[in-house]
Amino acid sequence: MTSPSSANGGRRLYDSRKRILVTGGAGFLGSHLVDRLIDQGHEIVCVDNLFTGTKRNIDHLRTHPRFEFVRHDVTFPLYLEVDEIYNLACPASPVHYQHDPVQTTKTSVHGAINMLGLAKRLRCRILQASTSEVYGDPEVHPQQEGYWGRVNPIGPRSCYDEGKRCAETLFFDYHRQHGLPIKVARIFNTYGPRMHPRDGRVVSNFIMQALNAEQITIYGDGRQTRSFCYVDDLIDGLIRLMESPDTFTGPVNLGNPAEFTIRELAEKVMRLTGSREDCRYAPLPQDDPRQRCPDIALASESLGWQPRVALDEGLRPTIDYFRELVHGQAERPSG
Ligand code: NAD
Ligand code: UDP
Ligand code: UDP
Repeated sequence: MTSPSSANGGRRLYDSRKRILVTGGAGFLGSHLVDRLIDQGHEIVCVDNLFTGTKRNIDHLRTHPRFEFVRHDVTFPLYLEVDEIYNLACPASPVHYQHDPVQTTKTSVHGAINMLGLAKRLRCRILQASTSEVYGDPEVHPQQEGYWGRVNPIGPRSCYDEGKRCAETLFFDYHRQHGLPIKVARIFNTYGPRMHPRDGRVVSNFIMQALNAEQITIYGDGRQTRSFCYVDDLIDGLIRLMESPDTFTGPVNLGNPAEFTIRELAEKVMRLTGSREDCRYAPLPQDDPRQRCPDIALASESLGWQPRVALDEGLRPTIDYFRELVHGQAERPSG
């Protein structure tokens, strides 16, 4: 007789099945994480208030026996029974998180308190999706986890940056004070299918502009740099972090250290979409970091993790996703 764990190519099956809560599970990263965990044989409770997420991202799981969607705002207490928590709920792009900055801080801070309270009651592992934004506009490159950051506490990005910093503080205090097993991932810019088409992020903006035969808008002189991690690599990093020994809490950087100027990204998008439009230059937003690049030595040593997907390779499926969206919109009758 085949044992459950040896069937299905050695993937996890019901002998090690966990009930896993993913907050923000209808969002870009959350929905990919849910897919991967379902694929590993786990049971998923996806909690989301659909502020920036959409049911479309999880529609394919609607009737899946191991998937459950709960529409809920994490700033309110949540009582359910799970074995593990991934806390991803929070708008991630400046247009979204600056839309209601007070709610953004509440989501990070009250959301963290509630999910940590839940984890404390259940004595279960909890992972926080933190961000490279905790480094602010950094004076050191690339950023290592020991760098404390340079964050403006009162600027337009502060609701996100300081909210995430406070959430990290809460995670480490619950760990020290209550012995809670925590994991903190500092995620750097990630892209891929299911990104929001109007989230104002550079990858989605450039692709949507190119596909709509509009000029690509470069903010500033385009010489500022970013590093871009493909979503599949990032999800792999999050799961490895969750599965690492209790003694490893992070914070750990997860991102792709290959650094590109925004101008270089624009050129790649134009080439891959076949766009013939020129670029146009617009003012640089306030507090826009000049350079951002992760040092991933810790993730590599402690988790054996390295991103594998090169920018050109990851842009292709992302462009295909946006192309389908644009065609869908064009085909849908108006009104
Ligand atoms: P996203 O906006 O697509 O997903 C966030 C999800 O959280 C959405 O589905 C949204 O509806 C939900 N949400 C927001 N507020 C909520 C609330 N109060 N209660 C319940 N649900 C709520 O963004 P994403 O890119 O998938 O980001 C996911 C997480 O990863 C976020 O915490 C973000 O800060 C972090 N992160 C993302 C990136 C990136 O490049 N995508 C980089 C750094 C950190
Ligand atoms: N909480 C929750 N679900 C639970 C347990 C707690 O949402 O299963 C929330 C609750 O709102 C609480 C918060 O988590 O206020 C922090 O919990 P903790 O036990 O740390 O502190 P408390 O406020 O209960 O003293
Ligand atoms: N950017 C740009 N054009 C756009 C959107 C963004 O030139 O249409 C620039 C932006 O000024 C920043 C970089 O691209 O320097 C990355 O911006 P994004 O908002 O994607 O991420 P973040 O600033 O949070 O890293």
